[in-house]
Amino acid sequence: MLKLCVDIGGTKTIVGVVNEQLDIIASKKFETIKEDPKQQFTEIIKLANHFVTEYKEVDSNILNIAMPGPCDYTQGLFLNPPNLQQYNQFNAGQYIEQHSQFKPSFVNDTDAAALAEYRYIKSTTSDFVYLTISTGVGMAYVKNGQLVSGVDGNFGEIGHTVIKNDSDYQCPVCHQYGCVENEISGLAISRKASDLLNRPVTTREAITMYLEHEDETIHTMVEEVIKLTQQLCINIFSVFNIYHIVLGGGVTQSALPYKEAITNYVSQHHLIQNSTIQIDISHLEANVLTGLYFIN
Ligand SMILES: [Zn+2]
Repeated sequence: MLKLCVDIGGTKTIVGVVNEQLDIIASKKFETIKEDPKQQFTEIIKLANHFVTEYKEVDSNILNIAMPGPCDYTQGLFLNPPNLQQYNQFNAGQYIEQHSQFKPSFVNDTDAAALAEYRYIKSTTSDFVYLTISTGVGMAYVKNGQLVSGVDGNFGEIGHTVIKNDSDYQCPVCHQYGCVENEISGLAISRKASDLLNRPVTTREAITMYLEHEDETIHTMVEEVIKLTQQLCINIFSVFNIYHIVLGGGVTQSALPYKEAITNYVSQHHLIQNSTIQIDISHLEANVLTGLYFIN
């Protein structure tokens, strides 16, 4: 069977047809229509209908949608998403049901990615945390093979918990100082490097400078980012009593030594001595879209 899956991002939206083997059979991409949610979901319905006509094996009721939080994912209601402010209080579930034959299901994008990941590590474990570090930071938890999604689907909003309590950077979203997203994300690395060098520095450039030990201040800054990530991971191991973390997202795909650094730190500080913890770096592409296959 083929399913229609939609990944709504802050900048682009992908509507795709995914099969049981998690191959993307077809997809169309467009710029997310930030200023008008009605136009955005009209476009999604149009593309979905197009795929229903084009592929006979598509289940024409299912429309699985990943969207940025916070949302009430049980009904598809946007709740103040930082990058899609015009969508606040827009009920996508209601809109889709009124304007199409689809029965939509909604999920957080990190949850969808974790489900795609689970398929590849199933033989090793059925309990793990998926931590994604890219522009932002997200977390998902698979327990006994099932996604734990929280009361309204917002489980794992770890980006806005405090990791550095002496930070002088105030988060524009949660207004706390030193929250995870503003201390260890790709955007945070770029911001900190730009402040240090007094010019715009990309995440990639900062990481290269660190690896080549080009600048002492950049080196110290990235070392601190890695340290904070180590501490975050040990918090996760201890709080969830799991032995497996999968790291996803663009920053973890870089040459920064996340796997080694976290493994070392956890082996020194985890209360359960000699525990068989495992850190994996994800190698999946387009994992949000394919993971949506498992939602409904
Ligand atoms: Zn915050």
